[in-house]
Order: sequence, then C-alpha cells, then structure tokens
Amino acid sequence: MGTPYSAILTLIVTAGVINVIMGIYTITARSKQPMAKLFAVFCLLASVYTFGSALELSSGSLAEIKLWIKVQYLGMPFLPPLNLLLILYFLGMAPYVKRYLRWILFIMPTITVALVMTNDLHHFYYRAIELRPGIDMLKVDLNVGPWYIIQGAFTFGCMVGGAFLLLLRWNSMKSSYRLPFFTMLTGLLLPIAGDFAYLSNKTPDGMDPIPVLMAVTSGLYMWALGSKGLFNVAPIAREILFESMGDGVIVLDVEDRLVDYNPAAAAVLPELSSAVIGRRLERLWSLHTDEPFIGAEEKRSEHGTSETSDLVGSQELLWRVRGQAYYYHIRSSIVRKKNGQRSGKLIVMIDVTQRVRLQQQLKELAYHDGLTGIYNRVHFLHLSEALLVDSLTEGKPISFVLFDIDHFKRVNDSFGHDVGDQALLHVVEICREELRSEDVFARYGGEEFVVAMPGLDLAEATAAAHRLRSAIAANPMSSPQQPLAITASFGVAVSGAKPPGSTEAATGELQRLLKAADGALYAAKHEGRDAVRVAEGEEPA
Ligand code: GH3
Ligand code: MG
Ligand code: MG
Repeated sequence: MGTPYSAILTLIVTAGVINVIMGIYTITARSKQPMAKLFAVFCLLASVYTFGSALELSSGSLAEIKLWIKVQYLGMPFLPPLNLLLILYFLGMAPYVKRYLRWILFIMPTITVALVMTNDLHHFYYRAIELRPGIDMLKVDLNVGPWYIIQGAFTFGCMVGGAFLLLLRWNSMKSSYRLPFFTMLTGLLLPIAGDFAYLSNKTPDGMDPIPVLMAVTSGLYMWALGSKGLFNVAPIAREILFESMGDGVIVLDVEDRLVDYNPAAAAVLPELSSAVIGRRLERLWSLHTDEPFIGAEEKRSEHGTSETSDLVGSQELLWRVRGQAYYYHIRSSIVRKKNGQRSGKLIVMIDVTQRVRLQQQLKELAYHDGLTGIYNRVHFLHLSEALLVDSLTEGKPISFVLFDIDHFKRVNDSFGHDVGDQALLHVVEICREELRSEDVFARYGGEEFVVAMPGLDLAEATAAAHRLRSAIAANPMSSPQQPLAITASFGVAVSGAKPPGSTEAATGELQRLLKAADGALYAAKHEGRDAVRVAEGEEPA
C-alpha cells in the first residue's frame, strides 16, 4: 500500500519543527517590525496545529483522537486571519487598517475554539466524530455541524481576500518585488490547493496535506517578508551604527517606510514610536521642516555590488521641534545586502545647531554694522563693486549718495552718547523707508552713510537724495526732553558709461566715485548743511 504511516508522521513532525524554528528565529531577530511578531505567532500557531495533527495520527483510541483534534484547533482557526494580516503588512497596507478591525478578525476563530472545546455539550461544530471502519489505520470520519461550515467559509474568505489583495497590487508592484510577491501568493495558494486535493480524495492515502504544507507556506512567507526588511535591514543598521551613535538614525525599507530608529532619532522626531513603524516617513518629516523629504530626491549612483551603502543625499536644514528651531545635517544612504541588492535606506541626523548659529553670527558680524544692522563699509564696497560692473556692462547708470549727519557732535555733547546712538537708528529707519529694495544702504563710518543706487542717473539720484534729506529734516527724533531736529548733508556721484575692463579697474572706478561723492558732501557742508550737492563736473541736466 501507499505511503507508510511512519513516513507521513515523520513528514508532519518535521513540518512542525520547521515552523517552531522559524518562529523562534523571527523572535530572536529582534526586528521592531510589527509583522515580525505576527509572523512568529503565525509560525508557532501553525506548529501547534501541525503537532496536533501528528499526534492525532499516532493516537491509539477515539478519545485520544478527539483530544488532539482539540489541540489542533488551538492553532488552526487563527491561521487564516493571521495570514490575511501578513499579506496586509507585505503590501504595506496594514497602517491603513484600524487596530480594532484587526482584532475583529479574531472573534470568529475564538468562537470556533470555544465551540470545539465544548463540542460534546452541543455538537454544534461536529455532529459526530466516529472511527472509520475497515481500514488498518485508526482514522475518523467527521460529521460536520453548522459552525464548521461557517468557520470554513471564514477561512476561505480570508484566503481568497488575501489572494485578491495580492492580485490587486500585482500591476503596481515594482518589478524587483515580483518574485517575493509571487512567492507570497504561492505560499497562500498552497494550503488552498491542498485542501481541494484533500476534499476530492486526491492525496496519498487520503492524508490531510495541510499540516505539512503549512511549513512550506511559512518558509515561503519568511522569504517573501524577509525581502520586505523583516529581518535584514534592522540588524545591519543596529550593529554598525545604533550602539555608538549620539546622532539620530532612522532605517527605512525600500519603499521609504519606517523600519527602525534609535533614541537620538526619537528626540529629533518625537512622533517616532513602535506604532508608526511600517508607515511612510514623509508625513512626520513635513511636521518639522519645510524642506522636502530627503529620500524623495534620490540621485542614486550604482556602484556595482561590493558597496554596502551609498550616499543619496546630504543637506542642512532648519528643523522645528516643540517650538524650538534647530539645524540638522541630514545624510541619507542606501543600505544594501551583501549581494548588492537594496534593502532600505539609512538616514542620519546630526545636530549642527551650534555651528550654524555661530556661522550666522559671524556672517552677521562680517557683513553688518553692529549698531544699525545695515551693511558695513567692507560689505558695501564688495557689493557695490559687483553692482558697478553689472550696471556698466548692461549700459545702465549707477549712482552713489554719501551723507553725513550735521553737527552730530552736538547731539552727543548735549544729550549723551546713548541719544546719539538712538539718533543714528532713527536716521537709518527713515532712510530705509525712503529707499528702494535694489538700493544698497550701508554705514560708511561714524555718522556717515552711503547708498548705491543702481539704475539711477545723476538727476534721479539727486532727487532721491533730496527725498532722504527732507525726510530726515521733517522727522525730528522724539526724546524725553524735546523733539530733536536732525539734518544731514549729501553728496551725489554717478558712474561713467564705460564698462571697467578688469576687477582692478572696477575697484578704481568705485573709489573714484566715492571720492567724488565725498567731495560733493564736503561742499554741501560748506554751503550751510542740510543740502544736496553733486560731484564736480556732473551737474544734473
Ligand atoms: P558736521 O556737521 O561737520 O558733520 O559736524 P559733526 O559734529 O557731525 O562732525 P563730525 O562728523 O566730525 O563728528 C562726528 C561725531 O559723531 C564724532 C563722534 O563722536 C560721533 N560718533 C561717531 N560714531 C558714533 C556712534 O556710533 N554713536 C554716537 N553716539 N556717536 C558717534
Ligand atoms: Mg557729521
Ligand atoms: Mg562725520
């Protein structure tokens, strides 16, 4: 006769052992993925079912058989909904399924277990379990009850639902995912096929193949889920980086979903928790910065297979956490398996707030005047030189207005240096309102200011200088004692039309213009102050 009884038994026990090993391996891989836990539960419940059926086969009496059937039911009814959830995780759809909906899936199996355990009282699951007469093996005939049909429909529904979801996503799957995808589908269809073969008596000796097939299914699932970062990504990143890092590290799978993170990363992104594992990071990202998600703009370089990671992006960005602004240097690199295949992405977040602040302060000090906040003389000269070259190259005029506050010593002497400072700020404020955005305004020295006016010819610049002069004169500074009248004297110069041939020529031309404006300013002072004068030989038309 067909397969020896001991061979079948060995096969089933082996299948059970394989399931146990896979379950334990998954637990010890210490992946933070929720699907890892789910898969471990799946394997262990499948092994309960498998061992139960092995012991049913080796039973010596009807009572023993009934006992081991009950044991099988401690695992079996939960496998279809677990299967469905694993597929949801595999497809990345699990985050969209509410927690309570997941628990609802397990109500039916729980009722089934309760009914099977108490079947002798109501015979609602099995009407009768009787020994099959006339065969050399101890085997039972199961006369099924109404709930058996319901549980059967539920099982079938979960399996078909899973297959449906897989097929639904087939077209939109990246081609690199087709193999794990196909593997997943095969793993799902195997027990269904086995069930059909069993029900139509096509299996050797009428043996139930599902306990054995469950181990094959688990194996296929393990491989397919592994390709989704179930085991690989997290351990690699942990070993290399996590332990020693004060910087935030985030691990993503190939579809930019969160796989793992370290405590430093949780300080940067306080929303990180095990609940968001498996979700896309982009949404959390946008809560903290206006910069696009670093993983999005991938400039991937394929460096053969020997590389374990390659840089995809590096940027410094402004980051807000709990109302505080920070700067992070963010580096994102691809994590590869040993064979070069991508297994995910690693994002390292380094706090550079102190350095950036210092740089900003240095820049501020280097470019701006400490009292008034407008440009300082050095930066003005630098900017003006470029403006001068641009204007002359484009054949447009550029004018320079230099002005000095009248009798400023008196302000200091009468009201004190503090009020003098206030007066400087007051004048700057008035001028800012009068000037165009393209004008470059700077503190040239003590109480002397300068404005570069690109695009304005002598007449226009003179008119602008008059506006500044009258605005200053018309707006005395309010002070505790009495309003303080301030005036200033102005000198205007306009550039020649010839473009300078070199940088030195541009510097020379700028110096010449400022000297000319200074001469005009001196003339304005001489002629009684609160006046505008243009540089000699450049009377406006
Ligand atoms: P004039 O009309 O000829 O320009 O007379 P003036 O008194 O303004 O003469 P001068 O330009 O020689 O004097 C400028 C004074 O401005 C001298 C200096 O003490 C004062 N001063 C320069 N920088 C500052 C500053 O940052 N704050 C204050 N309060 N005073 C300053
Ligand atoms: Mg002065
Ligand atoms: Mg002066």
